[in-house]
Amino acid sequence: MDLPSPQLAWIDGQPLPAPGGATFATVDPSTEEVLAEVARCGEEAVDTAVAGARRAFPGWRDLAPPERAGRIRAVARALAGRAEEFARLETLDTGKPLSLARSEVDGTVRYLDYYAGLADKIHGESIPLGPGYLNYTVHEPVGVTGHIVPWNAPLNMVGRSLGPALAAGNTAVVKPAEQTPLTALRFGALCREAGLPDGVYQVVPGFGTEAGAALAAHPGIDSLTFTGSVATGRAVARACADRIRPVVLELGGKSPQLVFADADLDTVAAEVAKGIFTNTGQFCDAGSRLLVEESVREALVERLVARAHAVDCGPGGDDPDMGPLISAEQRDRVRGFLARGEAEGARRLGPGPESVPGRGYFVPPTVFTGVRPDMAIAREEIFGPVLCVQGFRDEAEAIALANDTSYGLAAGIHTRDLDRAHRLAAALEAGYVMINEYFTGGIGSPFGGWKESGIGHERGLEAVHNYTRLKNVVVRVAR
Ligand code: ADP
Repeated sequence: MDLPSPQLAWIDGQPLPAPGGATFATVDPSTEEVLAEVARCGEEAVDTAVAGARRAFPGWRDLAPPERAGRIRAVARALAGRAEEFARLETLDTGKPLSLARSEVDGTVRYLDYYAGLADKIHGESIPLGPGYLNYTVHEPVGVTGHIVPWNAPLNMVGRSLGPALAAGNTAVVKPAEQTPLTALRFGALCREAGLPDGVYQVVPGFGTEAGAALAAHPGIDSLTFTGSVATGRAVARACADRIRPVVLELGGKSPQLVFADADLDTVAAEVAKGIFTNTGQFCDAGSRLLVEESVREALVERLVARAHAVDCGPGGDDPDMGPLISAEQRDRVRGFLARGEAEGARRLGPGPESVPGRGYFVPPTVFTGVRPDMAIAREEIFGPVLCVQGFRDEAEAIALANDTSYGLAAGIHTRDLDRAHRLAAALEAGYVMINEYFTGGIGSPFGGWKESGIGHERGLEAVHNYTRLKNVVVRVAR
């Protein structure tokens, strides 16, 4: 693949080096080889990007909504036309299986189309105050929106928040994760080719503590959307609190999958395995805790361990079932949890370390049984292909275990009993509940966490209001 090095920031419709020419390396996690050097942006570059986005804002805001929609759709069409190229680039930078990268690029196209369709439907209401008065509300764009994006689904995460931000008439400055800046950068050039005005989509690659922190603290940013860890989410929210700026936080999870004895165990095994092994467990809504009714616990664990053994791990470009983790750091972190689980007395099942390639950041899919609720592996987000199994006797115990976490992102329920499914959906402290299929839902399904999993929602119609501010106008109409 044609990959010029260094990869430059994307500002005002052109590639720009970081001031001083500083760079950092982005690595292929499947091979541990450097793919390219990338501009290492800091405060100065962020300043330039924000200023450019500010200049571009009035022109973009004042386009007639159908025209704005048309521009976003043109970007979507351009991406659809080059989907394979972007999927391959994403696979190189993340190590994820090619088919997963393809589905994420396809999802990015759909985000853009979905929110383009919304651009001319962002309207307020009129409020009856009685004769002699007219009261109406207007949803205006906030201005320059900041987006700090993670590495687990890089371009897809850009599309998720960029779509509604642009549709509502804002411009955007995006800070991709340092592990995976390539697709967000190439997308800049694609936007220009597709006719998006310069400055509407700016990209400042760099480290979190440099470009990320500079963006979060920048006085020219009118809202911030952050997806990543709880610790960084706190830091970013504090930076926004100092300037009283709105934030959307999509943070971690320790999402339970609850399985009752009446469910079809073969189907459930497939869903649970998908929920934890897809993307090598690196999704914030990974179903990382299996809570299963005692009477079927053994039978389900047996099926899951068989599935873990059947997972084919390899370089993303070979389109295996499971690719590597994103980095040596994440691999060591996950290995640390594997060791800690065993040290705490849980039983580790599944293929051993010899089953995965020696080069690349691979870890084998793992199932832990004998997990107690107080163990670190049951409480902390591992962000790897590691499933923790706990048994329960009845619905009340299932709910208590499911809610015994500081997180509240997603939950899965597997049962054929409709009443129970809805009782549980109501009782679970999670922002996104899936019944009888994991990772189900669509762009229209609002996604967001409760508790320490975040603030606000993305996807769906309401996400557009992450990027608008409400104005109320009252008129005294003379008689
Ligand atoms: P992870 O630990 O999974 O890598 P992070 O929350 O650290 O997740 O990273 C998510 C995104 O936040 C990345 O784009 C990263 O560069 C950025 N980031 C990390 N630290 C900071 C920070 N202090 N301020 C702003 N952004 C940051």
